[in-house]
Amino acid sequence: MTLVIGLFLLFLAVVFFWQSNRQRTQAGLPGGRVIYTDTRAWGLVEKPLYDHELGLTGKPDYLVEQNGLIIPIEVKSGRAPDAPYDSHIFQLAAYCLLVEKTYGKRPPYGIIHYTGRDLAVDYTDKMESALLDQLADIRRDEYRTQVERSHEDAARCRGCGFRNVCDQSLA
Ligand code: SF4
Repeated sequence: MTLVIGLFLLFLAVVFFWQSNRQRTQAGLPGGRVIYTDTRAWGLVEKPLYDHELGLTGKPDYLVEQNGLIIPIEVKSGRAPDAPYDSHIFQLAAYCLLVEKTYGKRPPYGIIHYTGRDLAVDYTDKMESALLDQLADIRRDEYRTQVERSHEDAARCRGCGFRNVCDQSLA
């Protein structure tokens, strides 16, 4: 079961990565704003969050309670980009959705923790709607036997876990 969940999350991350540029243009994804957070208040998440209705599961790195709300935090290694990557934004939005479904309170934003900088990304209705569109696309693509590569970035392929089985790899 753990392997299945892991594979699903990996699949989700790759699909978000594939689709994010197109979706960003359509959805006007929010950028991040720099915030300060006290890491001592962060709590590790013991078990993955799960939404039966959407068949979605995921485990944010941390949750933090702020003013009665529960905020998911995703930790990314490396220096902070000028704006968070779309794939990171969608992953965080999925955690916001899972937090709302699990705890019954909607997080107004989630946090991406990069090295030396924390970015808050608003979880707006528009963001949720873009996420649900992504999930619908994923379900549709699940049954396709051929999915075209959506980029020309060899570096991305070099870092991809599917490189050895992908017939469109550039690396
Ligand atoms: S190897 Fe490249 S084209 Fe293939 S799935 Fe990975 S990133 Fe996409």
